[in-house]
Amino acid sequence: MKILVVGSGAREHAIVHSLAQEAPAGGRHELHAAPGNPGIAALATLHKVDALDGRAVAELTQQIGADLVVVGPEAPLVAGVADAVRATGTPVFGPSADAARLEGSKAFAKDVMAAAHVPTAKAHVCSTVDQVGDALDDFGPPFVVKDDGLAAGKGVVVTSDRLEALRHAQECFANPDRGGDPRVVVEEFLDGPEVSLFCISDGQTVVPLAPAQDFKRAFDDDAGPNTGGMGAYSPLPWAPEGLTAEVVERIAQPTIDEMRSRGIPFVGVLYVGLALTSRGTRVIEFNARFGDPETQVVLSRLETPLSELLLSASTGRLAELPELRWRDEAAVTVVVASDGYPAAPRTGGPVTGVGEAESLPGVHVLHAGTATDDEGVLRSAGGRVLSVVGVGETLSEARRLAYSGVDRIVLPGSHHRTDIAEQAAADAR
Ligand code: AMP
Repeated sequence: MKILVVGSGAREHAIVHSLAQEAPAGGRHELHAAPGNPGIAALATLHKVDALDGRAVAELTQQIGADLVVVGPEAPLVAGVADAVRATGTPVFGPSADAARLEGSKAFAKDVMAAAHVPTAKAHVCSTVDQVGDALDDFGPPFVVKDDGLAAGKGVVVTSDRLEALRHAQECFANPDRGGDPRVVVEEFLDGPEVSLFCISDGQTVVPLAPAQDFKRAFDDDAGPNTGGMGAYSPLPWAPEGLTAEVVERIAQPTIDEMRSRGIPFVGVLYVGLALTSRGTRVIEFNARFGDPETQVVLSRLETPLSELLLSASTGRLAELPELRWRDEAAVTVVVASDGYPAAPRTGGPVTGVGEAESLPGVHVLHAGTATDDEGVLRSAGGRVLSVVGVGETLSEARRLAYSGVDRIVLPGSHHRTDIAEQAAADAR
C-alpha cells in the first residue's frame, strides 16, 4: 500500500516504524510523511506540506495516489484535515473536525459523556472568573481547572492553591487563541492511578488496544509541571482484570454510539484517559488520536499488521478484522527533553549517539523535536526531542534497554525522568 502519515512527532515516527516493519505479500509499503522529521526520513519520503493545511494534504494524497492517509496529531484533525482528505475518496484514519471536538472542546466531551452515561468527573463549564470561583468552592481542593480548548497537554492545572487555580482560569480566558467565547472547565478531583486506553473505531465497532500508562509530570516522583508526556510503558501488570472490557462496554462503545446517533460518526482512535479511583473507573479526558508517548510502547507490542487495523477502521470494516494479536513482550519509552522544557525549552543543541543507541538489540529511537542543519548535523528543535524505546521479555528488561539507549544520547542540558516504569517493574518482579 501507499500510505501517507500526517504529522512530525515521535507518535508519527512510531506509526511509520510499525508500518515499515510489515512485509505484506508482494513487498513493503511505500511510505510517505507530511512533513515528517529526520527520523521518519530514513523510512519514508518526506513532503514539505503543512500538516494543518487540509487542501495541501488532500492534493498530496492525490498526487501520491495514497491508499490510506493517517492523521497523527490533534491540531490537523480539529482543523478538518481528515475531512479534506476524505473528500478525495481516499480512506483516512482520523476523525472529522466535528468528531474531533471530543478532544477539541472539553465542554463538548462532557456533554457527550453525560448523554452516553459515561462515568467521569463532575464538572462546571464556566464563562467568567466569578463562575470559576463558585465552581472551585463547590468541589473544594484539590482544584482541577482546564482550558476548554486544545493546549498541547498544558491546559490543565491541578492545585490545592485557590489563587493559582483562579490565575490559571484567568490566563485561559485571556488567551487570544480562544476567540470570542473562551470557556474553562472546573472539575472534581479524581484520585487513583491513571491508565490510557486507545480504542480504535470505524464509527460503529470498537477494537481496544493494550492499556498503557504515561508520565505527565516533568520530573521524577511526579514533581514539576505537566508536560506532553515524559515516558510510558505497557503492559500494566497491576491493572485489574477485565479493565479493558469494562472500558469498552461502559465508556468507549456508548461514546461511539452517541456520536453516531448525533450524525457525527467517530473514525479513528478514541483515546480514553482513565483514573481508577476509589469509587470506580472514571474518564479524565478523551483525545481524538493516538497518545504520545503511549503509542511508542503500545505499537511496539502489536503483532497484527498496523496497516490492516487502520485500513479496516478507515473503510468501515473493523467488525471483519480477526482478533488482534500481541507480542508477549513489554515496552518502555523514555523521553529526552530539551533544557528548560516544558516552561521555556532551549533548542538548537547538537544531538549525538542516536546510532549507538539504535545499535543496541531491543532498542529503537523515535524522533520528536529534531531537525538536520545545513551541515547535516542533527539538532534539537522542540521541547521533547527523542523517545527512546526498549522492548524486552519483562518490564524490567524493557526498562533496562530503554535507559541504556538514553545513556548513549548526548544533548547538552537535556533532561529525562529516571523513574519511568520503575514501580511497575518492581511490582511485576
Ligand atoms: P487532561 O489534559 O484532561 O488529560 O489532563 C492532564 C492531566 O491532568 C491528567 O493526565 C491528570 O494527571 C490531571 N487531571 C486532569 N483532570 C483531573 C481530575 N479531574 N482529577 C485529577 N487529576 C486530573
